[in-house]
Amino acid sequence: MSKSYDTVIIGAGWSGAVAAKQLSSAGHSVLVLEARDRIGGRARTWSDKDKNTIDLGCSWIHGYKEGNPAKGLAQDLGIKAILPKAAEGVVYGPDGPLLSSQAASLRSSLSSAQASTKLPHPSPPSTASLASALFSPSSPLFSTSSAPSSDPSTTNVSSTSPANPSESTPSSITSVDETLAEGLARTLEIPLGLKLEKASLKWSGWESTTSFAGSDAAPEGGYQSFVEKVLKSSDTVEIKLNQKVSGIKETSDGVEVNTSKGEKYTGRTVISTIPLGVLKTLPSSFFEPGLPQKLQGIIKGTNVGTLEKLLVKYDKPWWPNYENTGSYTFLPTSSTTELNETSTLDEIFNASSLVTANFASISSTLSSPQPILLTYLSETPAKLLLAHPKQDVIQAFHQFLVKRLNPSGEVDEPVDGELTDWLKDEYSLGATTTPTIISENDERSPMDFKELGRPIWSGKLGFAGEHTEMEHRGSVAGAIVSGLREADRVGRLLDLSKE
Ligand SMILES: Cc1cc2nc3c(=O)[nH]c(=O)nc-3n(C[C@H](O)[C@H](O)[C@H](O)COP(=O)(O)OP(=O)(O)OC[C@H]3O[C@@H](n4cnc5c(N)ncnc54)[C@H](O)[C@@H]3O)c2cc1C
Repeated sequence: MSKSYDTVIIGAGWSGAVAAKQLSSAGHSVLVLEARDRIGGRARTWSDKDKNTIDLGCSWIHGYKEGNPAKGLAQDLGIKAILPKAAEGVVYGPDGPLLSSQAASLRSSLSSAQASTKLPHPSPPSTASLASALFSPSSPLFSTSSAPSSDPSTTNVSSTSPANPSESTPSSITSVDETLAEGLARTLEIPLGLKLEKASLKWSGWESTTSFAGSDAAPEGGYQSFVEKVLKSSDTVEIKLNQKVSGIKETSDGVEVNTSKGEKYTGRTVISTIPLGVLKTLPSSFFEPGLPQKLQGIIKGTNVGTLEKLLVKYDKPWWPNYENTGSYTFLPTSSTTELNETSTLDEIFNASSLVTANFASISSTLSSPQPILLTYLSETPAKLLLAHPKQDVIQAFHQFLVKRLNPSGEVDEPVDGELTDWLKDEYSLGATTTPTIISENDERSPMDFKELGRPIWSGKLGFAGEHTEMEHRGSVAGAIVSGLREADRVGRLLDLSKE
């Protein structure tokens, strides 16, 4: 007879690691089953032979000084968090770098336009999109704005990670080029994970009232080892890697969890942290008895976004003003509407709004600056680029960089590169949940994320993961809060049943 556990946790990402740590420290027996050959889930860190680490999944602790629970975990484990120094963000238009006053004007207009779409405003229909407001002829995106309160040319590239579409500071410039303004607005699609045409206007800005924001920090050594340390900080947790769960069954006294290798584990309770993208693809027989009809509808209707990262490493930095430039934003040189599956790599890069973080600058979160550029890809370019071989994409991007950044001297080829594919990764199938999407009859709202976290089977099957947190969805904070929430609930259920 195999051992039975108080709780079986499916998934060794942030939410699973935190739930396991919490339950085991309360004295419960815990088994973690993870499909991958590694801990971390969407925390995945690239490293080179010199042990430089760059996060290819989550990278920022958003709202570090504003209450993000990852800060306390980092401090408990002795992990240093690095707050980047402010550095200039340069914006490139079709003809080269914009004057900082012009870039400030564009940022200011975008900031005003974003503010005008925020709650509260007369509630628009649920079919109205963020694009319809941002790009309307009367949008502040295309007009003048108010006085500056700080230097708007300094940016933090952390605003490109999910759940943290930041706003820049308004300034006092007078005219705005509409094509450039739209190009800059398209950079919002990076943290949103979806096209502005799909994001609900009605719920736009709702998340900024709840999510952690303000200061951002990066954990030293990367996020993947951070999750590993959290999970391994409790030596009573059993962890089994390469164990893809293929079904979960309710039994008279608990649950039975089956894996694709034909192994069977039993527990009194189970917590699933299977990402929403994966939940969407599971056969209805995965859960036995099946999920309630309402929950099935929400899983189907909610959206998982696309965000990919493209890394290029060189022997030495060659890009302009690399020491003091935090990021390069490339606005399209041609229209995005023309992009399709037949577009060349060059056309895809040229027609996209791209944000490139510069790790060779003083704002680098590495222990010493490195000749590495990391580019954030939104849905449209990401999906098209992923149809091409990785090496071709890296090579084409190098050529694009040389053309747009136009260095004066010779440039060597990249010595290393990486392109993520969270979209097709069978254990994530997308980056994270997106903010609420447009819907015909108000079907979609932030309440969806609350419903995704509701336990079933008399509380024996619980759900955690970023997708189950209404207030912090899409983030590490959301995953942590969800893990703590489920550990607390399951712990009380176990205590009650022991009495
Ligand atoms: C490119 C990118 C950048 C990001 N940047 C940031 C950022 O800077 N800051 C931030 O706060 N957030 C960021 N995020 C979001 C953050 O990474 C996620 O919200 C968080 O890591 C999700 O944790 P989780 O536990 O919910 O899910 P996961 O980490 O996905 O964990 C779920 C686990 O379940 C496993 N699994 C799946 N199916 C099975 C199965 N059948 N059997 C067993 N195991 C299974 C998976 O392998 C995985 O390990 C980013 C995400 C991406 C993709």
